[in-house]
Amino acid sequence: MIRPAGFRGAAFGDAGDGNGRDDLERRELISDELGIPRAWAFVHQVHGGVVLNVDQPGLAGSADGLITDRPGLPLTIATADCMPIIIEGDHSVAILHAGWRGVAAEIMGSGIKAMKALGDTPRRAAIGPSIGPCCYEVGDEVRAAVGDYASRTTSGTPSVDLRSAAAGQLSGLDVWRSDVCTHSDPGFRSYRRDATTERQVAVAWLPED
Ligand SMILES: [Zn+2]
Repeated sequence: MIRPAGFRGAAFGDAGDGNGRDDLERRELISDELGIPRAWAFVHQVHGGVVLNVDQPGLAGSADGLITDRPGLPLTIATADCMPIIIEGDHSVAILHAGWRGVAAEIMGSGIKAMKALGDTPRRAAIGPSIGPCCYEVGDEVRAAVGDYASRTTSGTPSVDLRSAAAGQLSGLDVWRSDVCTHSDPGFRSYRRDATTERQVAVAWLPED
């Protein structure tokens, strides 16, 4: 698991860590490695902009983000090219799933708003492994939806830089960004590369201390 420095409860898994959202054996292994409870909260991900406030483990509904102020309740998102994003406040934590549709739906803003609704202040955010502008070839529709973040793939075709778009929506926070491209790096699951149903997970939690 990748543990961004300066975060109290943030971890990004790779293909080898497996899909701890759906695979209970993998969930136990990841939980034990991180020293966190094995009962996680998750959502049925739908590429939208909704963030749910949760206080118990299990399926919270259809959404693309979760937030909690309950210590010891791990939140998870599963991805294969989309961005897993974790936001930490003083006494709450949020986790988001965002591809271009999530960026267009401004899910980062939804996460920040949900944290403020809990009376907390967002302090820092981590953008985990995702498909990079090096590989994320897109058409005009996606470029228009994402806004001012046009880029080029390594083969020179039009792409967008989703991480920079996400970081733009997280302005004012201290933002950590993984430089891993899930499409280029065989150690990560990539839907675009393999049309896979396999996923890697990100996990966020407030320590129980
Ligand atoms: Zn790439």
